[in-house]
Amino acid sequence: MEELLKFKDDLYKCIHCRACRFAYSGEPNREGLGEHNGVLYEGMMDGCPAGIEYGWEGYWNAGRMWIARAVLEGDLDIHDKKTRQEIYDILYRCPTCGLCSMQCENNLPTVPINEALRAALVEAGVELLPKHKGLRDLIDTKNNPYNEEHKNRTAWVTDKSKIDNPNAKIAYFVGCTAAYRMNDMARATEDILNKLQKKGYIPDFTILSDEVCCGSVIFRTGQLDVAKKVMRINVEKFNKYETVVFSCAGCYRTMKIDYERFSEVELKYNPKHVIELIAELMLIKCPACGKWNDPDAEYCGNDFCPKYSKRGGVPFPAEFHENKLKIEKKWTKGAVTWHDPCHTVRHFCHYLKDKAIDEVTGEGDSNMWRTYVPSKFERERWIEMPRAIIRNIPGMELKEMYRIGENSLCCCAGGGVKAGYPDFALEGAKRRIEEAEATGADILMTACPFCELNMGQAAEEFKMKFEGKVLDLLEILNELID
Ligand code: SF4
Ligand code: SF4
Repeated sequence: MEELLKFKDDLYKCIHCRACRFAYSGEPNREGLGEHNGVLYEGMMDGCPAGIEYGWEGYWNAGRMWIARAVLEGDLDIHDKKTRQEIYDILYRCPTCGLCSMQCENNLPTVPINEALRAALVEAGVELLPKHKGLRDLIDTKNNPYNEEHKNRTAWVTDKSKIDNPNAKIAYFVGCTAAYRMNDMARATEDILNKLQKKGYIPDFTILSDEVCCGSVIFRTGQLDVAKKVMRINVEKFNKYETVVFSCAGCYRTMKIDYERFSEVELKYNPKHVIELIAELMLIKCPACGKWNDPDAEYCGNDFCPKYSKRGGVPFPAEFHENKLKIEKKWTKGAVTWHDPCHTVRHFCHYLKDKAIDEVTGEGDSNMWRTYVPSKFERERWIEMPRAIIRNIPGMELKEMYRIGENSLCCCAGGGVKAGYPDFALEGAKRRIEEAEATGADILMTACPFCELNMGQAAEEFKMKFEGKVLDLLEILNELID
């Protein structure tokens, strides 16, 4: 209950308005399929995957917040076996996508509250689904949730000299899905890092043989004891590096946000998704406001940028344009559409918004405006960044789905749903793929191996257009970067 008690004040801010079940879309007719037309604030659509699937109050976030409040008040007694099992059956059918946290005007941290309630159930002795318990046991004993041998974790690596490379300044945290299930993606990332090193953009890197599961799925399912155990192992190993890069949105989120919250040891590494690393090399990230700009931009595209805006600022200095990574090869495989992973976009949006609020209400800078502008662009960095990369790939056309960024529909793999409720995970992915198909794009792209895996399986299961055509941006960039 300790974790849940931390959110008591937040829970009393919930006025049960139910705004958190909706997403904004570009479709005023509310039918919702088709290409995003650039106007986001016209129609409101049901956006909570759990609510859409199960259609009852407890499954939407507003219901979950009231369940949490009732548990804290003692109106629901989780020490009663039947009660806690009933709560479990509702609560865990949520991929913790965070859409609700984006919509809530009262800024409720809905995902951490959901996770804290899950932790309270686990603490009270809830009987976990065999799959959920299995994840915990496998991670505890084998360091991965896929029941694979730890010694095979680096079996996919092409250049074996990179394994435990003593000269490295950067470490690549591969994650279990890429290491054991999505090897193409892991190899594409290794290739990209090799190319960037050879071009002199990054120092030498390594892949650690004693990397263990980041613990994402057990943090999300409230199994904090084993989650903290793997966190301690990873922090000890990866704190030796200046930068740790990720190809998985879930690992990246966990090793940044969860580890920062739960680790007793200060995190010394700078966590970065490989797409972020590439964006920094290809684009201009404005140092004054955080906006991503094209490599040839003269001024910052943010009109309110305190330093480099066209309205009263100065142009970007010449050195900002120098030594940029340029993609020369032309993309010829058709139009693409982009699925924003929840773990990069919404989870980071909420985290960064909270940081900005802390800054203005705490000891830091009390100028709301000065804080708001950079934080807005920081929050949006994961929405804008992959799109700016795509814009700078010759021949690549992006066809946007009608709900994107903070309003995206989740693929439904996260939060333990893929393991515990695989049919729901596939149905949820099917809904997202239908949105992708309606754009007329030929390829569905994302930046998370778990989204790629789940949507790829759904496309296959339901014989959809994107069968074999759900790809990670890193795989595509690897084809295009020489
Ligand atoms: S969590 Fe926020 S948006 Fe949802 S019902 Fe409560 S106050 Fe309304
Ligand atoms: S995290 Fe996503 S699925 Fe869960 S309640 Fe919120 S909107 Fe619904």
